[in-house]
Amino acid sequence: MSTRSLGIDIGGTQLRAALVDPHGRVLSRDRRPTPADDPGLLVRTLLEVIRSAWERTGERVPVGVGIAGLVTVDGTVRYGPNIGIRDLPLATLLGEELDAEVVVANDASVAALGEQRAGAGVDHADLVLVTIGTGVGGGVVIGGRLLTGATGFGGELGHVIVNEGGRPCPCGNRGCVEAYASGSAIGALARDRLVDPMTMSRLRGLGRVAGPEVTAAAQDGDEVAIEVLEEVGHWLGVALASMVNVLDPELILLGGGAAAAAAPWMLEPARRTMTQRLVGSAWREAPDITLAVLGDDAGVVGAGLLALGAATVGGSGTA
Ligand SMILES: [Zn+2]
Repeated sequence: MSTRSLGIDIGGTQLRAALVDPHGRVLSRDRRPTPADDPGLLVRTLLEVIRSAWERTGERVPVGVGIAGLVTVDGTVRYGPNIGIRDLPLATLLGEELDAEVVVANDASVAALGEQRAGAGVDHADLVLVTIGTGVGGGVVIGGRLLTGATGFGGELGHVIVNEGGRPCPCGNRGCVEAYASGSAIGALARDRLVDPMTMSRLRGLGRVAGPEVTAAAQDGDEVAIEVLEEVGHWLGVALASMVNVLDPELILLGGGAAAAAAPWMLEPARRTMTQRLVGSAWREAPDITLAVLGDDAGVVGAGLLALGAATVGGSGTA
């Protein structure tokens, strides 16, 4: 039985791969541009990455893939908006070409597993990871196992509705936490505040106002930027209260570049709002909210460990 596995994380721009050991340590890496809007080329690129890893290791190590989008429990990417794919039976296509089982799951879900096994969540069997980037993703580990739900679409924490009828979300609904707490939303909330000509802010006059500009302005003490990040924390706290009421995790992790950048202003309001809104808040301790630590490695580590788990438990696909 293999003691290593290959984890692959297909992002909107980068396709990362890493050989990992059973402790989630990265042994070697591979990185290429993601071929977007071309499912055939994406599959060929994946085959090349996998075969080259097999050649280097001299072993057909188990393979796990994380990809952004709705992924069914049998590894079909029903909808992958960033990469432009619909109904791609990725696990089946790769499995048939390679004559090996390949596990495919949602990218934020595998990242949650990576953090739980080898990152900020070690020693915690029940945790929630919320990733804040262009959008808001999520993954849930319960009792040390990845929550997939009946179809595989479980753990989509970014689309918990925090404000019915509120801001439009890229998913087509309104008021999802993604519409208030993503990197894109941080920029949009700031631009909304600048509409009032009386609002004084160093953001005014910048050619572009997106997440990074807002956190940079907050760093310089800009009150509008700080208020925006505090508001983002509040909305995140509203969403987290619902997640905690349902799942009762030991720990909540925030991952993604925007989360780390906004944390100094966002974390406290998120903790405060979440704690206030928990059922029975006076009689319980709220779980801690802290930053994830694996960064860009979370996905490849989680995908690798998912594959290793599937290989050792006979292919349940849920480690
Ligand atoms: Zn949504």
